[in-house]
Amino acid sequence: MRHALAEAELAAAAGDVPVGAVVLSPDGTLLAVGHNEREATGDPTAHAEILALRRAAAALGEWRLSGCTLVVTLEPCTMCAGALVQSRVDRVVYGARDEKAGAAGSLWDVVRDRRLNHRPEVIQGVLEPECAERLTAFFRTP
Ligand SMILES: [Zn+2]
Repeated sequence: MRHALAEAELAAAAGDVPVGAVVLSPDGTLLAVGHNEREATGDPTAHAEILALRRAAAALGEWRLSGCTLVVTLEPCTMCAGALVQSRVDRVVYGARDEKAGAAGSLWDVVRDRRLNHRPEVIQGVLEPECAERLTAFFRTP
């Protein structure tokens, strides 16, 4: 999560909402990183999780990320939750909850929807105060 927070800093430096993500391989090594690049790239889908999943799949040479863990500073949105299910990651770890748009336990729970045949394990609240404060500080800055 500390590494994901460092990624979030890179987003903020470029004027993007500070969200960072990393993907860990089944043996726990770092496979890929990503941070929000919506403003930097003008791409509405350039969320930290999407970029990290794409890079992890490229690193492994396949789309199936079975056994992998995605760690992200903010609860995934519906788009990212969908991508996480599609990627077949085993585990999603996130810091701050997103009561307004979260899709991993807050507003929706897409990743653990019983109607889907792949449901990653969800671990929430890891370094939550730091993750939440990073976002609050960004929106406080005029
Ligand atoms: Zn998202």
